[in-house]
Amino acid sequence: MKMKAVVMYGPNNIRYEDVEKPTCPEGGFLLKIKAVGLCGSDIRNLLTDSRKGKYPHIYGHEQVGIIEEIDKNVTGFKVGDRVYVYAGDPCMECEFCLKGQTQNCMNPGDYLERQGGFADYIGVLKTQLRGSVHRIPEGVDMELATLAEPLSSVYSCLENVNISIGDTVVILGAGPIGCFHAQLAKLRGAFKIIMTDINDTRLDLARQFGVDYAINSKKEDAVDAVKKLTCGRGADKVISANPTVEGQAQCIYMLKKGGTGVFFGGVQKGKTAEIDTNYIHYNNIWLFGQYGASLDQVKKAFDLAISPLFPTRKFITHIMPLSQIKEAIKLTQTGEAIKVVLIP
Ligand SMILES: [Zn+2]
Ligand SMILES: [Zn+2]
Repeated sequence: MKMKAVVMYGPNNIRYEDVEKPTCPEGGFLLKIKAVGLCGSDIRNLLTDSRKGKYPHIYGHEQVGIIEEIDKNVTGFKVGDRVYVYAGDPCMECEFCLKGQTQNCMNPGDYLERQGGFADYIGVLKTQLRGSVHRIPEGVDMELATLAEPLSSVYSCLENVNISIGDTVVILGAGPIGCFHAQLAKLRGAFKIIMTDINDTRLDLARQFGVDYAINSKKEDAVDAVKKLTCGRGADKVISANPTVEGQAQCIYMLKKGGTGVFFGGVQKGKTAEIDTNYIHYNNIWLFGQYGASLDQVKKAFDLAISPLFPTRKFITHIMPLSQIKEAIKLTQTGEAIKVVLIP
């Protein structure tokens, strides 16, 4: 049996074509994909030699769908269930998993090695049924649930650094992730949200997500601007949500004494930031790295993404057929689209 999929053959070489349909994995189920989000990391992976020559490959990890076939031994789910499937599958046995820090699992399944969600079907493994599959309630549009995945690491970040009432928060990077940060920070009670980017289109779009001040860091010194907006004090929390080491350095100098900085966005491999570490030392700066989310936070982010409390629909600027993924990539890169959801 054949299905359609977006197959990657090399950097920037992707084709929408027929491939073999996966079979139902033992102890798992076969998911008919109804919607899949296009993630910044997907774009980076599709356009670079992300698999070091190991092609063809199918990417995509923000998938929702309907269970089409299920192993007879699975309990708790059935054919016809509408579900959101988180790609990760931690071991549930290591020290970190036992602590609930599943994002730090020592023996996780490697979802980047498996067939991804840019396809008609995906096999969902037995190991993913331990907390990575969430039922989408009746009456909730399925495409909303695709945002649960990108929202999960943002949710995790803001919970981990406890963004709360009264905080002044700076977010460097007005991409979809930066916009999630702004919206969720506002929801958690942040008083003042300052967003920086080098793209005016993105900054303009970001204003609708709770951003109070938008700064183009190409046109003005963003550190100075933040200092001015905080009466010289600096921000309580600064999140670098962009792929540059310059952003990581700026993040530190924007903080108040005792403030908290987060390196959220990954940067190009091998790049190193130049930072005056004395500034961190003498100003009692706290610095955090953030990657992924625990399964508990994944669940909470999913609940939030499909709840009326969070304006998920505002983030989905484009819904397009999967066959138009190249167009979707362009729209995301230029900043015209915030989040594109693809429909197989
Ligand atoms: Zn993603
Ligand atoms: Zn583990």
